[in-house]
Amino acid sequence: MPELPEVEVVRRGLERHVVGRTFGEVHVLHPRAARGNTVDIEQVLPGLSVTGTGRRGKYLWLQLSDGAALLVHLRMSGQMLIDAPGTNQSPHLRIRAAMGDVDLNFVDQRTFGFWQYTQLVGGIPEPALHIAPDPFEDAFDLQATARLMRKKNSKLKTVLLNQEVVSGIGSIYADEAMWAAELKPWRTARTMRQRDAEAVLSASRDVMARSLEQGGTSFDSLYVNVNGSSGYFSRSLEAYGQAGKPCSRCNTPIERVVVNGRSSFFCPVCQVN
Ligand SMILES: [Zn+2]
Repeated sequence: MPELPEVEVVRRGLERHVVGRTFGEVHVLHPRAARGNTVDIEQVLPGLSVTGTGRRGKYLWLQLSDGAALLVHLRMSGQMLIDAPGTNQSPHLRIRAAMGDVDLNFVDQRTFGFWQYTQLVGGIPEPALHIAPDPFEDAFDLQATARLMRKKNSKLKTVLLNQEVVSGIGSIYADEAMWAAELKPWRTARTMRQRDAEAVLSASRDVMARSLEQGGTSFDSLYVNVNGSSGYFSRSLEAYGQAGKPCSRCNTPIERVVVNGRSSFFCPVCQVN
């Protein structure tokens, strides 16, 4: 499943290759690829130009010349591909959109992803209004978010995954951030110190920024792509998925624990707070 850094790489690719182009014919090849729409994207998109791109957490969108947006949900396996016209032969091609001398193709093996035409409210697509800013946004207030975390009676891991507190942090980066900040996944957020809450948020931004640097350099300029299953990023992970391997700080084997039904990986010696 793509996490925030992968989605950001896709946004940058779209910014470079799609902004300034105009939609021609759009074909929805699988009904679920345009679900959630009250507007038929085959009808509304042709003739509209792309004026910019946006992202909040894992929500990605193209700004359109009519003031609305095309929201793109990649979900588990969605890919945005730029191909020469009519050349994409993928059996998982769900939407094909002509854009001048290229096609913008939406390929999605598992069909959980989709495109949705939607209005922008204060620059944010309506379906993304309920989620909080992610750590990379100007609108993100680290101290206020830390205070909000400390009002929650849930466990830290659960709060980090709560998109209404902070968006864009998935299981991988939550575990990495808690390892970096030396905090236990199951500690109650309400009893945390402000500085610990700030530290784990700050760590989440750092680990995602490092991942983004790696992904940004391996990005083929003509191939706007994200594929969670093949591991697009060469992640160097300290905790997530590392059960049994020595912690790089203290050599103690990393352990796995289930917090609210989700696996968490942690160092039992370093992460004591
Ligand atoms: Zn350790």
